[in-house]
Amino acid sequence: MSKFQESQSIGRPMPDPVHASKPFWNGAREHKLMIPRCEACGQAWLPPSGRCPNCLSADHRWIQASGRGAVFSFAVVHRVYHRYFEGKTPYVVGVIELEEGPRLISNVVDIPPEQIRCNMPVEVVFEDVGDDFCLPKFRPASQR
Ligand SMILES: [Zn+2]
Repeated sequence: MSKFQESQSIGRPMPDPVHASKPFWNGAREHKLMIPRCEACGQAWLPPSGRCPNCLSADHRWIQASGRGAVFSFAVVHRVYHRYFEGKTPYVVGVIELEEGPRLISNVVDIPPEQIRCNMPVEVVFEDVGDDFCLPKFRPASQR
């Protein structure tokens, strides 16, 4: 069995969207980072849910985030917690604070782990995985 077939048979852990998060995943498939924002108080939040965590209003709409943010915190993962990730360590799991306010957990990519710092500016990049999903990840922000 080739390495490719083997990794296919092991299978990558995939998102399992619930009703409230479908707009997030549908947006990601189009390479858009979508977040819910409250129409009553203006707060944006993640993870998606049916009510604003600030004022409990159910009146919200989805907006496209800029994709810019900063590393709030991160960890470098060396241990293989799932067989799919054999040979893929180390990788970085970060808490990214978007400039719209919400924080989300994602990978920090395109930089050696030892060079990552908290508050480092990052921007979203999308990784297609399979036919149905695209994962938002974050890389160091391009200098403009
Ligand atoms: Zn609100």
